[in-house]
Amino acid sequence: MSSNILEQFLNENLEDLKGRGLYNVIDPLDSPNGPMITINGKELVNLSSNNYLGLATDNRLKEAAKEAIEKYGVGAGAVRTINGTLKLHVELEKKLAEFKHTEAAIAYQSGFNCNMAAISAVMDKNDAILSDELNHASIIDGCRLSKAKIIRYNHSDMDDLRAKAKEAKESGLYKKIMVITDGVFSMDGDIALLPEIVQIAEEYDLITYVDDAHGSGVLGDGAGTVKHFGLSDKIDFQIGTLSKAIGVVGGYVAGKRNLIDWLKVRSRPFLFSTALTPADVAASIRAIEILSESTDLNKKLWENGDYLKKGLKDLGFDIGNSETPITPCIIGDETLTQEFSKRLNEEGVYAKAIVFPTVPRGTGRVRNMPTAAHTKEMLDKAISIYEKVGKEMGII
Ligand code: PMP
Repeated sequence: MSSNILEQFLNENLEDLKGRGLYNVIDPLDSPNGPMITINGKELVNLSSNNYLGLATDNRLKEAAKEAIEKYGVGAGAVRTINGTLKLHVELEKKLAEFKHTEAAIAYQSGFNCNMAAISAVMDKNDAILSDELNHASIIDGCRLSKAKIIRYNHSDMDDLRAKAKEAKESGLYKKIMVITDGVFSMDGDIALLPEIVQIAEEYDLITYVDDAHGSGVLGDGAGTVKHFGLSDKIDFQIGTLSKAIGVVGGYVAGKRNLIDWLKVRSRPFLFSTALTPADVAASIRAIEILSESTDLNKKLWENGDYLKKGLKDLGFDIGNSETPITPCIIGDETLTQEFSKRLNEEGVYAKAIVFPTVPRGTGRVRNMPTAAHTKEMLDKAISIYEKVGKEMGII
């Protein structure tokens, strides 16, 4: 028997979301998540994946994963601290540290998990966290889990950050104060002002934490936002995911050896959740090797990003202030945004509508993620469909 109170809660709230155009419908893919995808038998130009470099379907990664399965099987069999640590995990962590120019690194099962793990392992109720208002949901949840006082600052507003850092420091209320920011903000594609953040951190003795999920593989010739600004020795926590440019799944922290040692004994997903699978780890190692050997994929990603941006901007779309290949197409109204995305889909482009609560109310957008794997023909096709649908709906 199901609970009446739960039934009532679900029915009311689902109807409410649907009525406001905020209910997200999931379309399963019949194909790999490459530059072209098939959904319900229909082929579409894919502008919605985080597979920035096309590595999710790369044969070299597939081979590495197959070999690892043959050698180690499909599962790690235990949490890392019991006996789920394979030599492969250690090799991955060594490679990640080299890739990020840090002393050490620790891998987690996802980027989301990593933020939950790392923040709460270091911060507690005696501390405060200064957090950019547009930080990713996993950072917000990680902060909440830590029980530290959360102080939000206006998005990339350095005067606001400085004032709040000063106030927090001078209050004498907190043992430790941390500043947390995304490296690249995934909904707008803008880059965090890390040099200014580091300066403020030095003034007020703040711990620095950068989640570079969307900067790794993209900025700094692939090494990420921190490297892009030449700040590798100034950031305490460099977070990354293995799920976006790396093309697999997983998350990691790169930093000083003693920080990583602490996370290995105190971060709960490392202690209590089964380790990444051998196939995921081996494929991730291969991806990092590929990125370390050549910047070709990275260059192609930027070339494609610039091409798509110019195409959409020339048509008259509002593509915001992206500084990276992420190309939002800002529509505003949630229902109109959903309808626009649906029409693009019908015409042959898969570009997902992103609406509240993922972005603030009234800033609904169709977000485009060009990748290194797209050809010019695919992007041209997408641009011409944008033109057709944009004109038909009176958006351009
Ligand atoms: N941090 C940021 C900034 C992200 O954009 C995401 C992915 N949406 C995550 C963390 C979570 O990463 P993952 O998908 O690997 O769990």
